[in-house]
Amino acid sequence: MLELRGVRAGYDDIEVLHGVDMRVDEGEIVALIGSNGAGKTTTMRTICGILSPSHGEITYRDEAIHSKASHEIVERGIVQVPENRDLFTNMTVIDNLLLGAQTEEAKANREENLGEMLELFPRLAERKNQRAGTMSGGEQQMLTLARALMGEPDLLILDEPSIGLAPHLVQEVFDVIEDIHAQGMTVLMVEQNVQQTLKLADRGYVMENGRISMTADGDQLLEDEGVVEAYLGV
Ligand code: ATP
Repeated sequence: MLELRGVRAGYDDIEVLHGVDMRVDEGEIVALIGSNGAGKTTTMRTICGILSPSHGEITYRDEAIHSKASHEIVERGIVQVPENRDLFTNMTVIDNLLLGAQTEEAKANREENLGEMLELFPRLAERKNQRAGTMSGGEQQMLTLARALMGEPDLLILDEPSIGLAPHLVQEVFDVIEDIHAQGMTVLMVEQNVQQTLKLADRGYVMENGRISMTADGDQLLEDEGVVEAYLGV
């Protein structure tokens, strides 16, 4: 579904990704793990067209997308949930959700999708007329995720969906990801919560210094000594 081949990218003169190869198949949950500064967020930004690669190619459903603008990538069905929540803090929960329907198709279905989101996220339903900026961190995180789903993605890209959340909310976020995956959504996620993520993921990639150093099934990575030592704090 999505494939990166030899992708190099970075900021101004600084190259951060030094030739990244990875792929995500239809229906999978793929995890990207690695230490701080390894280039995980940069990889996500490059896929979504916020950064453009200096070398290499990115294909989505056999079409090259690495020279496309971010709105063209959203139109193809790739929707990112950014690490910073990026909500319209003075607008209500409902209005934030409605703004997630960006493509013509998602706009046409937005009332129906809104109903589904309020069912999937009961806490948002309780607070649907509250201003987003006055919601708790966990509620804002849920809202960010629900808003992305309003865009009817085929591939959902999550950057640290559980960052800064209390443990019971972390579980809630993972439960929602499991739910939407069970309904057929393909997910690529970066998460600091490595153990929980690899349990959920079909496959994982380990990134070190802007390169993929290892890839295997989620379960295999959980048993790998190097991964356990570096990322599971043992
Ligand atoms: P973390 O787990 O800490 O979020 P990461 O793996 O997501 O890390 P990136 O955010 O991709 O890492 O950062 C990779 C490198 O790129 C870092 O050295 C970082 O300082 C640098 N970098 C990130 N954003 C910018 C920017 N806007 N301008 C210049 N350098 C940047």
